[in-house]
Amino acid sequence: MLYKVMDKSIYKDFIKALISNCEFIGPKKKDKSVHDFVPIKNISELDANYMRTTIPPAKKILFPPNEQLVAYELGENINVRSVVESSKKILFGINAWDINGMNFLDKFFTTDFIDENYVAKREKLLVIGMDSEPTETNFSPSMGAEYAKDGFDIYLAELKNKYFVRIATPKGNEIVEIYAKTRDASAEDFKEYDKYMEDYRMKFKVDVDIKNFYDNFELAYSNEDSWREIAKDCYSCGSCNLVCPTCFCFNVKDDIELNLKYGSKTREWDSCMIPEYGLVAGGHNFRPDKENRLKQRYRCKLKTFVDKFGKYACVGCGRCIEACLAKINIAEDINSVKKEVSI
Ligand code: SF4
Ligand code: SF4
Repeated sequence: MLYKVMDKSIYKDFIKALISNCEFIGPKKKDKSVHDFVPIKNISELDANYMRTTIPPAKKILFPPNEQLVAYELGENINVRSVVESSKKILFGINAWDINGMNFLDKFFTTDFIDENYVAKREKLLVIGMDSEPTETNFSPSMGAEYAKDGFDIYLAELKNKYFVRIATPKGNEIVEIYAKTRDASAEDFKEYDKYMEDYRMKFKVDVDIKNFYDNFELAYSNEDSWREIAKDCYSCGSCNLVCPTCFCFNVKDDIELNLKYGSKTREWDSCMIPEYGLVAGGHNFRPDKENRLKQRYRCKLKTFVDKFGKYACVGCGRCIEACLAKINIAEDINSVKKEVSI
């Protein structure tokens, strides 16, 4: 890791140069409270000081909601062609918890099976991270996700008159050398940065006792009454999955043209919270009850992948809490397991 300092006066020129020379994706205000990561053509469109979390998360750049995987042609011979679309892009202004969300997806899409489509996009993506203001539902520090140690090329932290710049990769260093004037960080700069991080962490207001949840989850798992109570208002709408930076479930569907000559396979985001998720041929549903679906969602995020990857499949961003019309709150539910077990 290289540690540099960039004067604030050159920040705008740095961004303008990146926008002019690269395909640049950054946060843009969509309405009063929502930002989205979209292609930016002019610096005036960019709003890196977003207060609300971005919905949908930036994972859509690597794992799009709809993505063609295969195209085929039927005839005397059957021609099958895999479709892998990727191009060099800069993803700018993504915060630490969403970078940690992408780090989780990196593991998922490269462990048991190398997902060519995901990997091609990830390899061509240059990530420039930046802290953003947490919402009142954010519990990233409890999940160890308010700070990104890796998964980015460059990370900017805004200090008083300068940016503290962490450069994690040769690709990131090249961009900084071409487009920005920086100097090596001094002991004074590090001191200022440490204080900045200390103040930044104070902005997160929600704490969860994740260790207790992990240790006691299996005890709570069989308490059907408690899960029925937690899930009683759930509409099974799946919004919590769609806004989540770490949810990875997808469905693959076939489309064939009416002339029966051409077809394609497309993957689409799926949701473990909707009733059809557990439905199989013959009409059997492995998970017909909403309380079982919610329980399984929590197990997947907060237990299964800790055992498999040593990483939670939740970065504490709080989006699912904001998106849930039934006011189901994962942070409260994590803490409720503690109460239940200590009674
Ligand atoms: S927990 Fe909330 S967001 Fe998720 S499926 Fe149920 S109602 Fe929808
Ligand atoms: S489960 Fe909820 S809080 Fe955790 S990463 Fe997903 S959206 Fe964020």
